[in-house]
Amino acid sequence: MALVVQKFGGTSVADPQKILAAAKKAIARQQGGHQVVVVVSAMGHQTDVLVDLAKQISDRPSAREMDMLLSTGEQVSVALFAMAIQSLGHKAVSLTGAQIGIRTDSTHTKARIKSISTDHVKKILDGGAIVIAAGFQGIDQDGNITTLGRGGSDTTAVALAAVLDADLCEIYTDVDGVYTTDPRMLPEARRLASISYDEMLELASLGAGVMHPRSIEFAKKFGVKVLVRSSFKDVPGTVILAAEESTPRPASGVALAKDEARITLENIPDQPGSSHALFSQLAASGIAVDMIVQNVGQGGRADISFTVPADDLTGALDVSNQVARQLAATGVSHDAELAKVSVVGVGMEREEGVAGRMFTALSAAGINVRMITTSEIKISVLVDKKDAQAAVQAVHRAFGLEAETTDGGADVAGSQLVKSSPLDVVRRLEGMEDLAIEDCQLDSSQALVTFTDLPDKPGVAADVFEEVGRAGLFVDMIVQSHPRNGLAEISFTVPAGDRDKAIDVAQKIAATRGATVADVPHVAKLSITGVGIRSHAGVADRLFKPLADCGINIDLVSTSEVRLNVVVAAEHGEKSLKVLREAFGLS
Ligand code: ASP
Ligand code: MG
Repeated sequence: MALVVQKFGGTSVADPQKILAAAKKAIARQQGGHQVVVVVSAMGHQTDVLVDLAKQISDRPSAREMDMLLSTGEQVSVALFAMAIQSLGHKAVSLTGAQIGIRTDSTHTKARIKSISTDHVKKILDGGAIVIAAGFQGIDQDGNITTLGRGGSDTTAVALAAVLDADLCEIYTDVDGVYTTDPRMLPEARRLASISYDEMLELASLGAGVMHPRSIEFAKKFGVKVLVRSSFKDVPGTVILAAEESTPRPASGVALAKDEARITLENIPDQPGSSHALFSQLAASGIAVDMIVQNVGQGGRADISFTVPADDLTGALDVSNQVARQLAATGVSHDAELAKVSVVGVGMEREEGVAGRMFTALSAAGINVRMITTSEIKISVLVDKKDAQAAVQAVHRAFGLEAETTDGGADVAGSQLVKSSPLDVVRRLEGMEDLAIEDCQLDSSQALVTFTDLPDKPGVAADVFEEVGRAGLFVDMIVQSHPRNGLAEISFTVPAGDRDKAIDVAQKIAATRGATVADVPHVAKLSITGVGIRSHAGVADRLFKPLADCGINIDLVSTSEVRLNVVVAAEHGEKSLKVLREAFGLS
């Protein structure tokens, strides 16, 4: 016997017929010989209706009362769901978050789970009933009802699957799986049979929008196998699992973040502490920064650019102007009409020329690339908003994603539910949603190539990386900073063993494009990996602060959902590793 958690989203329980249909799915699972916990969202758009009601009463309803109100949506749907199962002749018990014992902190409207008790749920399961759990809600230490933030039922489902040691967490929704890109925007998008947690994390907060990112963090942290599938169509869906169990592809998907805004602080002192000054104050204002790009700079001065969701632009500009004054920057510029296009794939680490392929596709479509950052499994470019859709299509085709096979879909659901660990392991997990920094690694075997004054026009990045690809250079990090005065700066790292070759190629590129190549130093790259890196404001600063405190200057930064990379001078590598490991509590 295995334990399965099934989650039904709002559209899957939008009316009584749909609730009955969903109830039949839960019963079918139970009759397959499994214990079943169902997590339900509020019916249809009920949560929006409640939010709207509150607004009609008050401009600023208190967060505590909002939670009291919003939690009722799920309370209605669990009761109806349990009645549906009972009407079909089976046993079911509905429970609120508080009744289950989902303890959260007291951050109303976006609370984080601290622990979940499993006793009550297990007793009911052992009695032969299906447990119907209200999604999205919990209770704080003073007994106040809290909610986990919009879309939080996914997190409830995966968290319950984790503590109950479930074999599978099925997410029933209105889409039939995870696609190579948003099919509403690009009809040639294909459903993926499987995807790894990291790829999903990199895609999720980028706009794939299938699941709440925090739920994927949970799944990764506790190794919960997740199956996303349609409530309405009988198709296999997409399994989300560990990278070791998934197929490595150079590209699994292309994501679009439509409303990005960029801010650049120009000519700030290129010295330890500058980044810390900026990002600590942004974090203190609760602004979560997305892309961070610092150029290599000249004459002891550098530019720092970063992006935030367009909604946060005003707040981020206030902080930036203030910090710019403190640091005697020569200016602050911004642009609110941008979009970020990212290609994600766990296999890109092991394949040459992936970046070149992406930039060439963009260039062929006449799209100018404004900024570039990379992680091991992701390349992100910032483009003008008007070019966003064309950019997604160009990149999607460049990797042949329209031809991705979607069969297989892994019917983990049917066959492989073999239980390994005993059900009675009660795990009460403290701090389940804390930021989990898994590792900090040092790679001191890289060389850094920088072009300081390439012309800022479509095709430049493509041009550079085609040349680099032809020379067989294996590129790791790529950063293109925000162009200024019509000139762009592109940096990339290569294995130090390829340094001479890199210098040759770089000089050739520079000579024919009228650009300058800075000297090519040995550098050290530090990578912090973990879960929750993006969703916790201020993580970037936890990295900048210890380096600033011991006077280590940062040459290059790149960020992603699950990783933060910084490049420092090679001689500071060991020391940086030591202080970062201390700062993040890694031994
Ligand atoms: N009902 C909540 C919302 O609409 C939670 C959820 O659906 O996941 O945000
Ligand atoms: Mg929902």
